[in-house]
Amino acid sequence: MNNILNVKNLNVCYGETAALKGIDFSLPQGQAVSFIGESGSGKTTLLSAIAGLLPKGSQISGDIEFIGQNFYALSEKKRRQILGNQIGIIFQNPELFLDPTEKIGKQMEDYIMLQHHIKRKDTHNKIYDILNQLSFPDVKSVLSAYPFELSGGMCQRISIAMVLSCENTKLILADEPTSALDQIIRSQTAKLLVDTQKKLQASLLLVTHDIKLAQDVSDYIGVMYKGKLIEWGTAEEIFISPYHDYTKALIAASPKKDTDFLHFRMYDATTDSKEFLRKEISPGHWVLI
Ligand code: ADP
Ligand code: MG
Repeated sequence: MNNILNVKNLNVCYGETAALKGIDFSLPQGQAVSFIGESGSGKTTLLSAIAGLLPKGSQISGDIEFIGQNFYALSEKKRRQILGNQIGIIFQNPELFLDPTEKIGKQMEDYIMLQHHIKRKDTHNKIYDILNQLSFPDVKSVLSAYPFELSGGMCQRISIAMVLSCENTKLILADEPTSALDQIIRSQTAKLLVDTQKKLQASLLLVTHDIKLAQDVSDYIGVMYKGKLIEWGTAEEIFISPYHDYTKALIAASPKKDTDFLHFRMYDATTDSKEFLRKEISPGHWVLI
């Protein structure tokens, strides 16, 4: 199976803060991975680094290959063409995606014209298709509203729908995409995410601390702790036989799981060596030791 993404020895610093330390993983074409870990473990930084959207002043080293090409060796122009077209990004905060000064309808038209290379008058059916899939009660009034007139959850669903409407998407990057949504809408939106990923045969890289969501959508799981990827394996391996105490604790802390793991010893990944030892505890399931 070909890999859509190869990340090799990725390090990111914000000044003195080392946010990512020696991250290595490969994501096969058409597969979904979730990165789980507590707040501050480096999940958003990982996603931003892959998208080439790190804030100014951050330092990055290592390689990121997207479909066999070194992403950071491409020109800024080429990278921007790939983003939003072959790589779709769903941010945790829809305000990063939606323009507060434009009505939703106009923004959707602009986005769809650009991504689908069609004229403004031909965007109408696509927009209605997308919004109907998400069961919006009153599409007309949504389209004539400004983002601030809608709830955060509603804005998030619109931004997700726009990103997922692009048929060229090969990789969907999603940062806590459902955290602003209530439970019922969350399940519906998660389903749309996975259905679209399967339909487009795209890969999905999801960052979440919703363990249940990770379990529902993922082929692979990566566990982040203090900037390191401490465990990697198939979802089945990680959920059935997690290795690290930290992974066990994360799974135990999620709702509706049994509490056998509650007596855990926090895994200490504080040693700051550049060289990490990896142990393969079963084929493809490795951990930092
Ligand atoms: P997560 O998404 O898992 O919560 P982040 O990637 O946001 O983690 O953060 C990883 C670490 O980097 C944290 O220590 C955080 O405080 C720090 N960090 C994140 N963004 C910035 C930034 N723009 N400037 C400085 N430090 C940052
Ligand atoms: Mg984050």
